Amino acid sequence: MTEHTFDLVVLGGGSGGYAAALRAAELGKSVALVERDRLGGTCLHRGCIPTKALLHAAEVADTVRSASTSGVQATLGGFDPIAMIAHRRSIVDRKTKGLEGLIARRGITVVAGSGSLTSDRAVRVGDDLYRGTDIVLATGSFSRTIPGIELGERIITSDAALTLERIPERVIVLGGGVIGVEFASAWRSLGAEVTIVEGLDRLVPNEDATLSASLERAFRRRGIVSKLGARVASAVESADGVRVTLEGGDTLEGDTLLVAVGRGPATSGLGLEHAGVALERGFVVVDESLRTNVPGVWAVGDITPGLQLAHRGFQQGIFVAEQIAQLAPAPIDERLIPRVTYSSPELASVGITQAAAEELYGAEGIKSVEFDLAGNARSEILGTRGLVKVIRKVDGPVVGVHLVGDRVGELITEGQLAVAWDAHPEDIAPLIHAHPTQSEALGEAFLALAGKPLHSL
Ligand code: NAD
Repeated sequence: MTEHTFDLVVLGGGSGGYAAALRAAELGKSVALVERDRLGGTCLHRGCIPTKALLHAAEVADTVRSASTSGVQATLGGFDPIAMIAHRRSIVDRKTKGLEGLIARRGITVVAGSGSLTSDRAVRVGDDLYRGTDIVLATGSFSRTIPGIELGERIITSDAALTLERIPERVIVLGGGVIGVEFASAWRSLGAEVTIVEGLDRLVPNEDATLSASLERAFRRRGIVSKLGARVASAVESADGVRVTLEGGDTLEGDTLLVAVGRGPATSGLGLEHAGVALERGFVVVDESLRTNVPGVWAVGDITPGLQLAHRGFQQGIFVAEQIAQLAPAPIDERLIPRVTYSSPELASVGITQAAAEELYGAEGIKSVEFDLAGNARSEILGTRGLVKVIRKVDGPVVGVHLVGDRVGELITEGQLAVAWDAHPEDIAPLIHAHPTQSEALGEAFLALAGKPLHSL
């Protein structure tokens, strides 16, 4: 057994792990980053980046279909799924090479292989032992399935969906959360018949109910069927199709079933229990500083309870590295993490929902306004419907911003600043929004909440 000593050993080179490594190296620490695959994790290889490339292809198809409305003659000739995969791969490859270069330039030692935690608090990779004054666990998550549903050629999770060399023609999507609605949206744009089966009574149930209702309407107009409050009892695949039986006995048939019922923490087989790291339902138990119960061992990203988002992982990685370097960074407020769902229409939100605000401050303690994108010229030009909803405490700050409409993901940062800085709508109302932009819709909502609506009543 060969021993290597570093200030910091990071187990997992995804968003959370590599951010911790980069920041720690920047702060003068010697760092080993253990990764069994290519650097970049789920987000870069099987998540955020390839799915957004797929959704971009879907948007291009929709743009071609609707080209004539703006006087451009274009015809949609068809789809080449192999070329789409190649497009996704070329983007992922370039980003991976960029990341590898960055990691190398910061002097970080990348250790290729599967690591596990030993009982004397080191990371073992094959016959090598990596000791760190601090250790960061950042092993990410995996696609969950549900009992009674076996994955196969046609019953797949998002991992296999991204390497599928065909575009499904009749697809059933199990789970109307973020992954479910993103794939439903993309495949519909690429010509598939899509049915979403969601166990709760609305799509994207973690979002404000107004966003769910707006997305459900938009999907209905696009011909996507949503079966809400419906749970799958069983699913079987044959050579040419899948048959899904719902609780209650109804059946659905298609050529593909996407299982998108959440992601579980990748914490088994890492020796964590043996090393004494406390787990709860598979997640690593951490305090507000992201320390585990074992001194010197920290955890970041999808293995910690909370939002499973790459940008949360980045921030957590930076936060831990700064604490290791004896800085005193402010704890991360999960409420201020922006959330974007890249379906068409897009959803974006930050802060709390109306239901949460009512629970906290009472229905009389808050005020919310909605501004319909129909009143926003840029949205009209782009051909998107949707809305902006802003919630404030009565005579107090903005506590939630919720958006629906194509491209609204790019607008959420303004909402984030408003919520994070406890801004009152009256503070924002004098700030001029450029005309004509979609951001004016947010400006209109702030104006209305400040009691001086311009283009609304
Ligand atoms: P999710 O938790 O967002 O949604 C899963 C959905 O499946 C829920 O609505 C749940 O009610 C439903 N469900 C669960 N079991 C069911 C059953 N038996 N029958 C019917 N419905 C059932 O999970 P996800 O969509 O798989 O995404 C996983 C994680 O990845 C999430 O945390 C998500 O935020 C993250 N992610 C984020 C993005 C993004 O930010 N754009 C994109 C993809 C994934």
